[in-house]
Parts: sequence; C-alpha cells; structure tokens
Amino acid sequence: MKTHVKALVVGGGAVGTSIAYHLARAGWDDVMLLERDELTSGSTWHAAGLLPLFNMSFATTHIHKYSVDFYKSLEAETGLNAGFAVVGNLRMAQTQARMDEYMVYATTAETCDVPFEWLTPAQIRERWPLVRTEDLEGAIFHPTDGYINPADVTMAMAKGARQRGVVIERRWQADAYHWRGDHWDVTCTKMVERGGNLVPSEEQIVITAEHVVTATGNHAQRTAKLLGIKIPAIPVEHQFIVTEPDAALVEWRKTHAEHPVLRDADARWYVREERGGWILGPYEDGAPARFEHGVPDTFRADLFPLDLERIEAEYMAMIHRIPSSESVGLKDDFNGPICYTPDGNPLVGPAPGLRNMWLAEGFSFGITAAGGTGYYLAQQMVEGEAEIDMASLDPKRYGSWMTTEYAARKNEECYAHVFILHHPDEEREACRPLRTAPAYDRQKARGAQFGHVNGWDRPNYYAPPGFDDQASRSFRRGGWWQYAVEEARAIREGVGLIDATAFTKHVVKGPGATAFLDWFTTNKLPKVGRINLTYALTATGTTRTEYTIVRMREDEYYLVSAGAWTDYDADYLRKAVADKEAGFGRIEVQNVTTQWGVFAIAGPKSRDVLKAVVNDADPATALSNKRFPWLSARPIELGMCPVNAIRVAYTGELGWELHHPIEMQNYLFDLLEKAGAVHGMKLVGARAQNWLRQEKSYRAFGTELGRDATPLEADLPRFVDLTKEFHGKAPMQAVGVRSKCVTLLIDGPADADPWGREVLFAQDGTRVGRLTSGGYSVAFGKSIGMGYVRPDLTVVGTTLKVRMFRELWDAVIVEDSPYDPANATIRMDG
Ligand SMILES: Cc1cc2nc3c(=O)[nH]c(=O)nc-3n(C[C@H](O)[C@H](O)[C@H](O)COP(=O)(O)OP(=O)(O)OC[C@H]3O[C@@H](n4cnc5c(N)ncnc54)[C@H](O)[C@@H]3O)c2cc1C
Repeated sequence: MKTHVKALVVGGGAVGTSIAYHLARAGWDDVMLLERDELTSGSTWHAAGLLPLFNMSFATTHIHKYSVDFYKSLEAETGLNAGFAVVGNLRMAQTQARMDEYMVYATTAETCDVPFEWLTPAQIRERWPLVRTEDLEGAIFHPTDGYINPADVTMAMAKGARQRGVVIERRWQADAYHWRGDHWDVTCTKMVERGGNLVPSEEQIVITAEHVVTATGNHAQRTAKLLGIKIPAIPVEHQFIVTEPDAALVEWRKTHAEHPVLRDADARWYVREERGGWILGPYEDGAPARFEHGVPDTFRADLFPLDLERIEAEYMAMIHRIPSSESVGLKDDFNGPICYTPDGNPLVGPAPGLRNMWLAEGFSFGITAAGGTGYYLAQQMVEGEAEIDMASLDPKRYGSWMTTEYAARKNEECYAHVFILHHPDEEREACRPLRTAPAYDRQKARGAQFGHVNGWDRPNYYAPPGFDDQASRSFRRGGWWQYAVEEARAIREGVGLIDATAFTKHVVKGPGATAFLDWFTTNKLPKVGRINLTYALTATGTTRTEYTIVRMREDEYYLVSAGAWTDYDADYLRKAVADKEAGFGRIEVQNVTTQWGVFAIAGPKSRDVLKAVVNDADPATALSNKRFPWLSARPIELGMCPVNAIRVAYTGELGWELHHPIEMQNYLFDLLEKAGAVHGMKLVGARAQNWLRQEKSYRAFGTELGRDATPLEADLPRFVDLTKEFHGKAPMQAVGVRSKCVTLLIDGPADADPWGREVLFAQDGTRVGRLTSGGYSVAFGKSIGMGYVRPDLTVVGTTLKVRMFRELWDAVIVEDSPYDPANATIRMDG
C-alpha cells in the first residue's frame, strides 16, 4: 500500500469520491482515498438521489448546478450509467407568499444560468392530471434536474478517479493526524468484520500526505476530536417511504413520461415515482439529532426504525395532493442519518488553526452537492482560490463559542426548516439568546427585534410593544420596514445609536507589526492616532478581509472587521503572522472581540450628545474637527467610562464609534440614552444601517467584498497603494477588472425592495451583472442596490434593468456615494 501521497481524502461517500476525482482532474497525480468500510456505506447508500437545483444561495446554486451538469457527463467518461433521470422538478405553491419566494429565488437562478419555467395550476393539471391543483397558486419548474442513483454516481466518480490515477483503499480507517511542519502523518488502521460489526484490527500504517481532506459524513464528530477542532456537523434522522404501485400511475405511465420530482413545499414533502409507486420524503417537525458524540461501531450501513406517526401530516398531505395514492400500501421505508449544520450549508474549506487540512463535512444535500464541492474545493486546493466565493461554506464561520448542544439543536431546527418560507429577513429562534452584549436586556425592553450573527443577538430594528417580527416577514417589504425607515431618517436628520459590539477586533503589536501589516494589507498604514480602511487579499488577489485599522502606537494596531467573521478573520491573520514572523520580527496577535463593546453614534446631532457627557477640560471643542478630525482615533472619557473613540460612521453621517470596556456597557448606554433624549436620539438597528451604508456606496464584507472579486473590481483603488508591495498584489493586477462594483437607484415595485440577489440586464436584454445588496434609500425615496456589472456599462447615468417579481424595473447607475458625495456632513465641524 502506498504510504506517501500529495493528497489523502478520508471518506468514500459521494463527497470524498468527488473530491478525489476533481483533485486528479485538476492535475494532482498523487491522490489517495481512504474508506473505513465500503464506498457509499455512509449516508450515500440510502439517499433518495434527488438533485434539486433550487437554492437561495449564490454559491450553493453554483455548486448544485455544476453537479447536475457534471453527472450528465460521467457516463461518457467512465462508461458507467449513474441512472440520472432528468425528469425535472416541480415546486408547487399553495400561497402567494410561496410564489413570491420562488420569484426571489428565480433571480438567483438566473444569475447562475439555471433554467426554470413558471406554471399555472391549469398548466400543471394539463401536464400531470394525477396532481390535484385547485388549491395551488402556481409552480416553478426546473426541466434540467431530477434524480440519480447515489451509489451508482459515486461508483462512476470512483472509476473516473481511478482512471486518472487515484488510489482507493477500502477498509482502512484514519485514526490519528500529526502535522510535521510540511506534511501530515496519518495513522490508519485496517478494519475487519467481527460479528457483523466493523472493528479495528492490530494492523496499522502511517500515510504521509502533504494535504488531507476529511469527508467523513456522520463521523464528523470523531474527526473533530482527532483534529482537536470543533465541527458543527451532526446528523439528524431523515425518513422516506416507498409505496406499492399506484394503479392510476401505472396506467398513466403506459402513455406518458415519468412525473417530475414533485415538491409541495407548503406541505413539507417531496415525492417522486419509484417502480409504479411513489417515494415520499417529508421534512417534518421533531426529527432528532443523532450521534452527537460519535457513531457507535455497531452502526454501519444501518437505519433507524421508521417513525410513521411523526410524518403522518405529510403523508396525509401527499394523499391530498395525489388522491390516487390513498389506496396504495407501504412497501419500504428508510430512516437514516442525514448530516446537518446550523445553517444548512456544508463546511467546506481550510480547517481552523490547521495547515493543509481541508474539511468537507456536514452535507445534507450531499448527492446534489458532491460534484460541485469536488470541483470548487479542488480549485481552492490546487489554485489557491475557487472561482466563486466559498466564504458562506467556510468551516470557520462558526467560532470557538460553538458547542455540541448548540450544533445539535440548531441542526434539528435547520432540518425542520427545509420547507419553510425562506424569507431573506428570516431569523431562526433555536438556541437564542446565546451571545449577548450587556445592553441586550435594555435594548429588548426598548423593543429591539434581534438578529442572529455568529452566535450574537444584535438588534435588527426596534418596534413597539406587541409587534410580531415573525408574522411581519415577507419577500416584499416586511412589517419592520416602516421602523427601519424611521431609524434611517433619525440618523440622516438627528441622531441614532447602533450597537456594533459584535465587530471582530484584533490587536496586532510588537516590533514586527508594522512591516507585517504593511505587507498584509493593501492601503498605506495610518499614522499614530489615525485610521484607514484597508484590505487583506487572498493568494489570488481577491478580498479576504476588510479592516478598519487604527494605529494606537508606533507598533500597535487595532483592527476592526466584520462581526460575522471573527474566526474566519482570526485564522487567516494568525496563519499569516506565523508565516512571516521570522522575517518581520516578533508580532503579537490578540483577539479582543469580546473585551470591547461598541456603540456607533451618528447623525448631525451626534456631536451635541457627546459634548454633554464628555469629560474634558474644554467639552465644547473636545469633538471639534481641530481636536478630533474625521478618520482619527483617540481615547476620551464619557462620564466615568474610558472610551477609544474613532471618528468614522458606517452610515456616512457625522459620527463616532465608541469602543468601550464591555463591563461598562450598561453604564455607557444609560449615559448616552439620557443625554440623547434631549436631542431625540433613536436606537437604530442593523437593517437601517445596511440601507444607509448603500447610500454612501460603502461595500460590505460578504456581499460586495469577497473572494471572487479584487478591491479594484470592488472599485476601491483609493484603498490600494500600488506604490508598495503587498500580499496578493501581482495576482490582483493580473486578474484585471472582470466586472465592477456600482451603486444603483431603482424604480422598483411600490411594495418591495431588492434583497441583493437580483439579476441585472442591459436595455437590449443581455444579462450584464447582479445585485449583491439591496434595500431602501430614505435620502432618495426609492429602492437602492449595489452590485457587479460588466465594466463597460459602469458609466454613471446608464440605465439598466433589474428583475424583481418577474418584472423588469429601471436601475440607474449613480455616482459612488450618491448621498453626500463630498462627505460634507461627515466632516461637519462643531
Ligand atoms: C433518507 C435520506 C435521504 C436522502 N436523500 C438525499 C437526496 O435525495 N439528495 C441529496 O442530495 N442528499 C440526500 N441525502 C443526504 C445524503 O445522503 C448525504 O448528504 C450524502 O450522502 C453525504 O455524503 P458524504 O460523502 O458527505 O458522507 P457519507 O456518504 O456518509 O460518507 C462518509 C464516508 O466516510 C467514511 N469515514 C468516516 N470516517 C472515516 C475515517 N476516519 N477513515 C476512513 N473513512 C471514514 C464513512 O465510512 C463513509 O463512507 C439523504 C439522506 C438520507 C438519510
């Protein structure tokens, strides 16, 4: 057996097999795949094999689309037929809200070239008369997807992998991982059958691998322990049942093609044909998490007992929709572990804290995702980055605060939410509140409706008592919209206070800090007491992190980045420091995220509020332009609270970020609230802030800024100092500008704003880009959006079209920072 390889893939399910195949296809000719049992013996063997293209996420849609296209090509390459039945996929809607959901989804599909059709109830009935339609509003139909045999497609990928030189070893289990500085030593144990169980033998070998990928499915908790990291991938029970043949279906099929996969989302099930009968797959309430602490040796390619009671409502709903199914009996059932993560996206990418260790865990639609995951992960490993931004799948989006209990309960919730309405303004309730700033109770008492970001509860907006956030959600303007409008106005016209405690904060200091940061980020480093906006790039020159960087002392910097990405940012920073310390000198990195609370006070009256509480020899001038200029930072005292104040406002108004010791937060909150009352200060949430920053064309990390675009494509050359050398500079320049970030004012529907996933067209109907952010502008009284378009179309004044709710609306490209382009209000003196 080979003991030295470039890449070792652990796990021979659909996902691991696809990764091995794609690594070989991407040019790595020394890849080994290790499987503790037989290929497909994990969740893969009992999957229903559906390949739904429908997905609200841009990255995941790309992944699913790649898989569907790739699986169609496998037979020609391998000679193996994976049984891909391209029957299409019919998603029915019982309500107008569900149709709205499909319309919002359809714009994502359009940006990714996923074909779809709209069908009326009459058209559904005409094509598939066994389906009851009188209570339907309509449907969206995907003609190009369907279902596949999961084991066969895995075997086809395995054959394709072997043809490309991949070695596949079965009955070997990876049992220990040791990093040796430039490679992994992986201790592997030969597995043997004993009494029907699969158990380790005495035989062990060590495989040396430059890179390791784990794709261990339901065994992710064991993998996490072996690696000493946390992986929130825990399976949940998922059942499907197979009926006896349905006489009406058998008769119909004599003259007609197979039904598409049917999905009655409001009834929470999918149904497809199976040998004259039906397979019903429900996503019911109450499915429990399993194997929270690992899979027992006794569980191999096994199943759990059927729990028919739990899926009774969905079963009855199938009979309602397909009346002929009422009289058919049950033939078979499957209740297997299906791996989940708290947000339903798999965990794909570099493992936290480890080198050359890649995770591909937590797949709930792993058959659908396997092809695309293999393709994009191989790109990441071989070329440094994938062509799409994989951040939404990155394992480090969950921080070290994450626990087994959190993952298990969230995963159960995620399973139960598969068929809920996927409102873009949805907030899920399980495990909350968990991470809260001290002012949480005060904010709650004042009507805060919280959102969940990286475990934190953070105010989205404030509403009057009795307001029901959940009932107010919509694909159009939700019930919260009016409150966000009032909050946005308060900042533009008066003063507002935003809790930004969740911001990620790092201190980087030491003799090597300045040289390191100069190399690590794109902009000039600020002088002591000043701040800059700057970017850390990937090895391929795209944006990895956006930092507001404050120079506290000559060799001490305070770095502020997005709150949703603490461990994601920390991991990249720490690894870069470790790589460079020898050359630049000692560098200390401290993650101080939870030590500092942050309030952002902004609006023309913000200075007046601060003046009333600042403890200074001359309070009247303490916050003046002379003593506290825009883009500077300095320690001040507000009452008895020491504050590191930064004169910057993400809302683009006169304002300060007040970074304060977290244990004094309630004191500071009360102080500011009292002083603010005199000026009508309003508490403001993240939704209004998101609109306001678009009026200033401030790019947000995770939407405009990510690993699929360079800062030059984000049109931020002023934050890129081309006179110096920095990480990613050459590749950034080599990439050029493939598409460019613009801000658009939109004459949209009267009751809706874009969400930032809509497709953009030129006047002649050519697709030219997509929105990445959207919302409402109080300054202009219409919808606003930011997005990427073809560079030749970025001229200010160009009118494009944006698709919203199946119609095209005018979207005019405006100058950067359409609100206050000269930054006059931000610089206002006083
Ligand atoms: C009832 C049911 C229906 C489903 N239907 C669908 C569907 O229609 N469409 C869809 O897309 N998905 C479906 N799924 C989900 C799908 O089955 C999984 O997402 C997919 O199989 C995950 O593949 P994987 O390769 O990640 O994991 P697995 O198939 O579980 O493979 C992991 C492999 O890793 C091996 N392994 C673990 N640890 C080690 C180690 N230390 N050393 C060596 N080998 C190791 C295991 O033995 C296993 O073979 C369904 C799931 C269930 C339960």
